[in-house]
Amino acid sequence: MSTPGLRGGIERFGNTVGRVLNRGGSASAPRLDLSHNIILYLEGISVSFDGFRALNNLSIYVEAGELRCIIGPNGAGKTTMMDVITGKTRPDVGSAWFGQTVDLLTLTEPEIAEVGIGRKFQKPTVFAEHSVFENLELAMAGNKSVWRMLFAKMTPEQHLRLDEVLETIGLKDHRSARAGSLSHGQKQWLEIGMLLMQDPALLLVDEPVAGMTPQETERTAELLVSLAGKHSVVVVEHDMNFVRSIARTVTVLHQGSVLAEGSMEQVQNDPKVIEVYLGDGH
Ligand code: ADP
Ligand code: MG
Repeated sequence: MSTPGLRGGIERFGNTVGRVLNRGGSASAPRLDLSHNIILYLEGISVSFDGFRALNNLSIYVEAGELRCIIGPNGAGKTTMMDVITGKTRPDVGSAWFGQTVDLLTLTEPEIAEVGIGRKFQKPTVFAEHSVFENLELAMAGNKSVWRMLFAKMTPEQHLRLDEVLETIGLKDHRSARAGSLSHGQKQWLEIGMLLMQDPALLLVDEPVAGMTPQETERTAELLVSLAGKHSVVVVEHDMNFVRSIARTVTVLHQGSVLAEGSMEQVQNDPKVIEVYLGDGH
């Protein structure tokens, strides 16, 4: 499963046939090439903090359009893995590729966002004084000047996109509501919507259902499932019921490496997993 150098091997085929997406942006932005149907290659990644190995020879491959769940006990390295993908933390060794052609380790955090990787942090960071609609409008501006954006008229396409996102996140009837007045779950959905305005090819979501009601948790599962296909989604989550309700492939992280990978059924019955994680009161 975690064959070192998988991407390198594939790349020797050379020519990039199939789907090549240009995500717009600046002319210098690298193109996302999904011709081998893999959107993310993490290979042999290690990260040390003061001699402590938070990630230890980690290899993970995510398919285009996949919804992948990453589980694992506290300190397993889940957030550090996301930090590596988004350029916040640089690994000591290893490689991280976005599709066939984009070497994430050579890009800055803003460049990684621009090339099509969106990240949702645990705490929602919506603009409380602005309406749901305005939050989405502001998110569309991306790296462009907010002022330029506010004074520009939205194109019909942008209006359509905004309506589509409102529908996806289930906040159509709340478009005029002040973001600060939304429930915790609604704020989380709004923030996912704000990421969607940038139309990221890959969406990273860290513990989305923490603090949510059971109904909100269920709705979040539906939302993430609905995004798969159009986007690739990597979800880090502790809540086992939630993972069970959405997961296709589950990767179990432990001490910075992949302990097990497969269906929820498979990993749940894996003795290694039972020992270090599930049997551990989680
Ligand atoms: P998880 O998200 O799976 O709970 P993390 O990736 O946050 O795990 O952390 C993995 C390990 O690395 C933990 O032991 C944590 O204390 C350590 N760690 C994470 N970030 C830092 C940092 N910036 N400095 C030092 N240690 C860190
Ligand atoms: Mg974490």
